[in-house]
Amino acid sequence: MDPKLLDILACPLCKGPLVQNRDKTELWCRADGLAFPIRDGIPVMLESEARPLDADERLDG
Ligand SMILES: [Zn+2]
Repeated sequence: MDPKLLDILACPLCKGPLVQNRDKTELWCRADGLAFPIRDGIPVMLESEARPLDADERLDG
């Protein structure tokens, strides 16, 4: 994913910063503990599509 695109993306809930996960399939908001999927290179910034981060993931990276 384009790093510049990541720069302008913010969490739809808290407007905080997002981080890409290691295999670049999700964008994580640590503040909310949510992972937003990236489908075909397009981030899906919908709370209804997000999954909760587990405890390990919240501490990861
Ligand atoms: Zn958030």
